[in-house]
Amino acid sequence: MSKKILIANRGEIALRILRACKELGIQTVAVHSKADAELMHVYLADETVCIGPNSPLLSYLNVPAIIGAAEVTHAHAIHPGYGFLSENADFAEQVEMSGFIFIGPQSDVIRQMGDKVTAIELMKKTGISTVPGSGGALSNDDAKNKKIADQIGYPVIIKAAGGGGGRGMRVVFEAKKLLQEIQLTRSEAKAAFGNATVYLEKFLENPRHIEVQVLADKQGNTIHLGTRDCSLQRRHQKVIEEAPAPHIATDQLDRIAARCSEACMAMKYVGAGTFEFLYENGEFYFIEMNTRIQVEHPVSEMITGIDIVKEQLRIAFDEPLSVMQSDIHFAGHAIECRINAENAETFMPSPGTIKQLHFPGGNGVRVESHLYQGYVIPPYYDSLIGKLIVWGEDRHSAMVRMNNALNEFIIEGVDTTIPLHKKLIDDAAFKKGGVNIHYLENVFFNE
Ligand code: ADP
Repeated sequence: MSKKILIANRGEIALRILRACKELGIQTVAVHSKADAELMHVYLADETVCIGPNSPLLSYLNVPAIIGAAEVTHAHAIHPGYGFLSENADFAEQVEMSGFIFIGPQSDVIRQMGDKVTAIELMKKTGISTVPGSGGALSNDDAKNKKIADQIGYPVIIKAAGGGGGRGMRVVFEAKKLLQEIQLTRSEAKAAFGNATVYLEKFLENPRHIEVQVLADKQGNTIHLGTRDCSLQRRHQKVIEEAPAPHIATDQLDRIAARCSEACMAMKYVGAGTFEFLYENGEFYFIEMNTRIQVEHPVSEMITGIDIVKEQLRIAFDEPLSVMQSDIHFAGHAIECRINAENAETFMPSPGTIKQLHFPGGNGVRVESHLYQGYVIPPYYDSLIGKLIVWGEDRHSAMVRMNNALNEFIIEGVDTTIPLHKKLIDDAAFKKGGVNIHYLENVFFNE
């Protein structure tokens, strides 16, 4: 029986998943909104279904329409990509209950990890360090909350248990603002995530964001693909990522990655996942786990040669991982620049028609993008239009390659963040490596 997968996403990741399916001889169903009929992967898919109008709420977040599309096309499995429904436990559960395979962990694991308070408690049990904090949800007891914050020491960060995508966080620098900010975060979290639970963490002032990619199959095999450094962020959104994390001793990186692999084994985790940490003064502090493929996954693929999406597909269809940990050899350095259709200075979205397009190429250069000449970027969705990934035998050669590739890249018709990336690649602190998560906003942009 041939296999068929419905891709419940759009843009570059939908194309990335479609390509992996084709390589494995898997049939594909592209679902799309009305505005997205001309997406590259829609042209390349075996079957297509329009699932609704332009608004994401009525299309890519429309659970009955997506499950209905899987039914009429007789798909076997649904790949959610990232964003949209990828970490929605109710969706995963409905997919399972409707008799399809959800390409990701079991819905109860997504639910557990989606609640950051529960995730942090789970990690503590497996012996992974977390950021000093409230050690659980904050109650409505003002005096107690004040005491907790005093004990942690200011500044503190109030975080929504159900938060995601860099939203639902507030930093508090002085005690007199604490209670008011807790209230505000609670009501914002309730409105945005349907969950008013918040917790407190010490706000780290110089951390780096370092994460570990894991893969686990249903046979109980778990591997890690090392670390990524995603410290270059603006408004908690990653801008450039690299692998491995620079200037940290290899044995320390190996140790934290191995701990994540062990934690997966202990949780009986299945699928691809990412453990996110803040790294400060030589220590790793867990902040959250993502139970899906991530935008920045290609940098880990480039230094290991492992195709993470293909492994996800193998796992979903009950096959064991194609490699064991001892088969994985880390080689060289990889960097990814996220290219958005935005003004590089104001970050205003810039939808419109691609008039001229030229992708860079050459040894070690990879472009993940759904763009083609004449394609019209609609205004309704995320502004990510592509990712430029390069590999080099060391960090310096990867930086040189990225610089050349950015100079070769031509996108005309819309504004893009390529000019920002050109400046960043040439920035002395970034060149040196190891900048912290506040660098881009505080130093580079002086925001
Ligand atoms: P989300 O799920 O919204 O991505 P995370 O918990 O992963 O939220 O945090 C996103 C980003 O917010 C981190 O990469 C970091 O830049 C910042 N951040 C989160 N917690 C802290 C903290 N305790 N101190 C300083 N910065 C933090």
